[in-house]
Amino acid sequence: MTDNRRIAFLGGGNMAEAIIKGLLRENSSASLMVAEISVDRRACLAEAYPAIHVVDDIVQAAAWGDVIILAVKPQHAAGVLSSLEPAVSPDKLIVSIGRVPNTTGLNAAAVGLKLDERGAIVVDDECRTNLPGVWAVGDVVRGPMLAHKAEEEGVAVAERIAGQHGHVNFDTIPWVIYTSPEIAWVGQTEQQLKASGRAYKAGTFPFMANGRARALGDTTGMVKMLADAATDQILGVHIVGPMASELIAEAVVAMEFKASSEDIARICHAHPSLSESTKEAALAVDKRTLNF
Ligand SMILES: Cc1cc2nc3c(=O)[nH]c(=O)nc-3n(C[C@H](O)[C@H](O)[C@H](O)COP(=O)(O)OP(=O)(O)OC[C@H]3O[C@@H](n4cnc5c(N)ncnc54)[C@H](O)[C@@H]3O)c2cc1C
Repeated sequence: MTDNRRIAFLGGGNMAEAIIKGLLRENSSASLMVAEISVDRRACLAEAYPAIHVVDDIVQAAAWGDVIILAVKPQHAAGVLSSLEPAVSPDKLIVSIGRVPNTTGLNAAAVGLKLDERGAIVVDDECRTNLPGVWAVGDVVRGPMLAHKAEEEGVAVAERIAGQHGHVNFDTIPWVIYTSPEIAWVGQTEQQLKASGRAYKAGTFPFMANGRARALGDTTGMVKMLADAATDQILGVHIVGPMASELIAEAVVAMEFKASSEDIARICHAHPSLSESTKEAALAVDKRTLNF
């Protein structure tokens, strides 16, 4: 890091974010540049690292004086990087523009195995390919490229082959970004709910107001719960903060059982515990938090 102070990222997804946060923790005055980063991630990074400047203009970023996140559209990224003067060009470029299914060399065409335009093996809801008796699971098929999703699909396929009823609920697969603070979510985001026109209620509770987080000295972040405006069914839970990867499990269970926010609000959570923030976020959906 000492010799490579100026690091540019091509791509601003989960992987880039994890590496960025690691680098910032090691050296808070490092200069970073990210080509293309979503609004949500910018906000998250900016909250966690107040020293960061998020800019959209290469001229603003040219100095590399502070920690800089440069947000440009992916199609402009190569042009932006090549336009940098040598004095301000990055020492290292980390390409993190996402992964693709690893089916090159599989010789799918020879056996008539159907792939989609991304190279993913085409499967039905139960992981059957177009070839009789051939199943596919994990990163090579549709859906999130996550280890636990691959595992669930594998188990479900084994059960189906054994004549049982394997099942994977794609709506309740948790996502985690193992950074500091951790980020975890399940279900839909507010942006997705707005785009689909679904009426929803939102409740948030900050870890700042949680006793256990205060005792841990880690009060960054919050829990946000989204519930259907009419039925109160939980539609999504988003957690940024300490042990978010663990806390999300309660939300997954709740959503799997089609719980309402009121269900969580009425469940007794141990004090002091981080999980009280989930209960409080559920109470916040109905605007009746107890401790904030
Ligand atoms: C850096 C990194 C960090 C990650 N972090 C996380 C994380 O924190 N949480 C999470 O949930 N997921 C994470 N993932 C994703 C996770 O690793 C994958 O989703 C998961 O491994 C997918 O499982 P899989 O069985 O589909 O594929 P893989 O685990 O990749 O297994 C595929 C296997 O098939 C073999 N193979 C490939 N081609 C052939 C062939 N033609 N013939 C025979 N064998 C072949 C490969 O060698 C490999 O052993 C991460 C991935 C990366 C790269």
